[in-house]
Amino acid sequence: MESELAIIGGGPAGFSAAIYAVRSGIKTVVFDKGFGGGLAAVSPNIENYAGFESISGIDLVEKMKAHASKYTDINFNETVSKVSKKGKEFIIETDKDTYNVKAVLLCTGTEYRKLNVEGEKELAGKGVSYCATCDGFFFKDKNVAVIGGGNTALVESVFLKQIGCKNVYLIHRRNQLRAEKAYQDDAIEKGVEIIYETHVEKILGNEKVDSLELHNVNTDKLSKLPVDGVFVSIGEEPQNAIAKELGCNIDEKGYVIVDRQQRTSVKGVYAAGDITGGLRQVITACAEGAIAALASTEALGKKYPY
Ligand code: NAP
Repeated sequence: MESELAIIGGGPAGFSAAIYAVRSGIKTVVFDKGFGGGLAAVSPNIENYAGFESISGIDLVEKMKAHASKYTDINFNETVSKVSKKGKEFIIETDKDTYNVKAVLLCTGTEYRKLNVEGEKELAGKGVSYCATCDGFFFKDKNVAVIGGGNTALVESVFLKQIGCKNVYLIHRRNQLRAEKAYQDDAIEKGVEIIYETHVEKILGNEKVDSLELHNVNTDKLSKLPVDGVFVSIGEEPQNAIAKELGCNIDEKGYVIVDRQQRTSVKGVYAAGDITGGLRQVITACAEGAIAALASTEALGKKYPY
């Protein structure tokens, strides 16, 4: 079936957009390079998505995926390699096929930011990880460090404590955490040891991680912290390659600039979810997806329903 709207990225924004688009009579196709869910899928615990007091990221996105799948095809494991504009249409090239659509919705999200220190690349998968939910299990009864001071770092450090890691150190570069107070209180209560005003200079080890070289910015002293694993949780970088290729305006941090209807600067191209920056919450991603789906009716020559 020929589609009118291509949604690139099957995370909360993409799934929500698909539901709203199809229910508005828009023939829609969703592409995801993997199994869908985006970074929300690896969140150990989500406690601020209304209607769910506490739910794991994977459980929440699986519910969304099942819901969206009732409405439309979701092309999992299909990577979009290029999107180009030809007249009023867009040509979507993937690793499997080529599609012509009238509107494009970018829900491409973000990827893990790297620390860029010695040892990070060399010891990736050998004690260096970016996802406690995925790899935490291997560090039961061991000592681990989590780098970062945002919500993810706090949630992950509590998760690591809960699954039985011995000592969990949270290493933050400033004297104040960025995370919500509720997450901070939880981490302190669960026994996470917070090390403030400290930079990780090197990740050390031969075959696997055995320690970190730390630099206290207050005392200017270097020290060594023995750990078996290190979880880098220092935020995300927008996956904006397709947006850039299309010529969409991007802000100084690399996020796609949109208006209140989720329109980008390129006619017929919309963006929703983490790729647009801002709050980057599951609930805002879903809301943006819904708005973008309905706004895309204008590019399809249909009447905007509201
Ligand atoms: P974030 O909020 O951007 O925080 C990144 C943290 O890493 C900050 O504390 C930052 O330090 C630190 N950092 C950044 N670059 C660094 C570097 N090069 N070296 C050392 N530290 C560095 O990222 P996030 O925690 O991954 O969260 C991303 C988004 O997801 C946020 O909007 C967050 O609210 C959301 N989220 C929500 C939940 C939830 O509500 N359940 C859970 C997880 C994530 P500074 O503070 O000094 O800048």
